[in-house]
Amino acid sequence: MSGLIPDSFIEELLARSDVVELIERRVPLKRVGSEFHACCPFHDEKTPSFTVSPRKQFYHCFGCGAHGSAIGFLMQYEGLEFLDAVEELARMAGLEVPTTGSKQPRPDTGLYDMLAACSKFYVEQLKSNPAAIAYLKGRGLSGEISRDFDIGYAPAGWDALIKRFGTDDSKLEQLKKAGMLSTGKSGSYDKFRDRIMFPIHDRRGRVIAFGGRALSDDGPKYLNSPETALYHKGRELYGLYMARQRSGRLDDIIVVEGYMDVVALAQFGFRNVVATSGTATTPLQVELLFRAADTVVYCFDGDKAGKQAAWRALEATLPKMKEGLQARFLFLPEGEDPDSMVRKHGAEVFAEQIAAAKPLSEFFFDRFTAITDISSLDGRARLVQQAQPFIETMPQGVFREMMTTRLESLAQHRLQRQSAPSAARAPDSGERGKPVQKRTSMRIALAHLVQNPALVARLDNVEDFTGPTDDEIHCVEIFRELVDFCTERPNITTAQLVELWHDHPALPHLQKLAVWHLPGEEEKQAQEFIDAVNRIRLMWVEILLSRVTNIMDEREKYRALQQRQQALKKQLEGEQDSVK
Ligand SMILES: [Zn+2]
Repeated sequence: MSGLIPDSFIEELLARSDVVELIERRVPLKRVGSEFHACCPFHDEKTPSFTVSPRKQFYHCFGCGAHGSAIGFLMQYEGLEFLDAVEELARMAGLEVPTTGSKQPRPDTGLYDMLAACSKFYVEQLKSNPAAIAYLKGRGLSGEISRDFDIGYAPAGWDALIKRFGTDDSKLEQLKKAGMLSTGKSGSYDKFRDRIMFPIHDRRGRVIAFGGRALSDDGPKYLNSPETALYHKGRELYGLYMARQRSGRLDDIIVVEGYMDVVALAQFGFRNVVATSGTATTPLQVELLFRAADTVVYCFDGDKAGKQAAWRALEATLPKMKEGLQARFLFLPEGEDPDSMVRKHGAEVFAEQIAAAKPLSEFFFDRFTAITDISSLDGRARLVQQAQPFIETMPQGVFREMMTTRLESLAQHRLQRQSAPSAARAPDSGERGKPVQKRTSMRIALAHLVQNPALVARLDNVEDFTGPTDDEIHCVEIFRELVDFCTERPNITTAQLVELWHDHPALPHLQKLAVWHLPGEEEKQAQEFIDAVNRIRLMWVEILLSRVTNIMDEREKYRALQQRQQALKKQLEGEQDSVK
């Protein structure tokens, strides 16, 4: 995944960043011994099971299994993509991300500056336009909310923006690329004119697009930026950045259809509201929503279009319905939107309605029972036929099981279930209530090395491990690779190691070992490591011995291996004695 960015940069970036400092700014940490503890920001809990290790530069939650480096934390906590997380971390560390070797050029950073300047310009313009101010006041918006959301005004006329920013051809080109201009027969002109402007921010708070509400009857009521290199409608949620700025993890998040709804609800104290930008809810947006909160409440108009939008949202949500997550649906009376609703009835009534929103399962089954007659055998068969494919898009787990049971009771028919493959049960990480991975010598050795790469200096006779490997013993291969890797970089941290092994097939395995609990003092740990390695050596020598097929031909080799075997056995016994 990190293919576009040189490994050496990732290594340097993690060396210059501090995962403790990064997390501390978002989650209050408490020092316990050599580590830091907190209540996990990724799942709901009362007693802290989230730990951050300054030495490993790694975080891990024993409750939900979340773990990773500083890059991983930014991805998980801020909902950033890998490249964005790297850029953000680089910005904090004062490093420039090298772009060489990148096949797809990164979007022009000048576009961000241009859009930020446009946003500032619109905010300035608002101050000197009494009609626009009067409109916002008429909608009940305070100056504070306008400021919080950087609401602005795009002047009437055709070229206010062009005059201000399109001073030369390259600037004009940038305005075009940023989606701020329209082009007609006689050239380019401002796309947004005489409109209240809502800047749309990406997850890092940069302006990437605008939504504009018309003040006059000229043109459509709402106008959005087109898709650009920076703006992909299906990947953004209006208001998400502001909501997360105020609170890292929200209890619940409300999804509405319009910008105006977001700011109107903010005015009434609902700071956990986001809007899709005139598109159906996408799976990616659902992903972002669940990263921000465990409960998502979709709030749609009660008309046919609203119901349809809600169903699309449900379709995108089903595959993400993991345990502990919830989705609910609120349908407003016809003719109402959240904005009008909250202004007419007040915050309390709206909060009650949000609390009483339909659970996803209810909305789901209501829809089917409304269109099929389940009193007939035929109707019940049709119900199964129509509903089951949707349920099958859900991940295995309690919620899917409940949906299946409900369908069975409606259909009066027992359905065949796909049993969850046992591997799907996140195994082996030693998390609470989950099976603990068996501690073999190989795993113990790898775990020590991943958690403390400097231990590699304690190894001697690494040449014991040379020789061909095959599938049966390919873990020796991984061990050798890891030893070589650590030997080259004796000062590497766990976090750097994990990021640099990003593409390695053994990474999931190593990540589990990276969070194994290895008790004891440093010296005891080192001894445990050496012991485990010696056991692997012995195993390896015995494998090589068993492969000598003709003792006469390979007499020398056989004898050498035998001697090594005896020596290792003695050494291991000696260590046993010294432990006793
Ligand atoms: Zn957790």
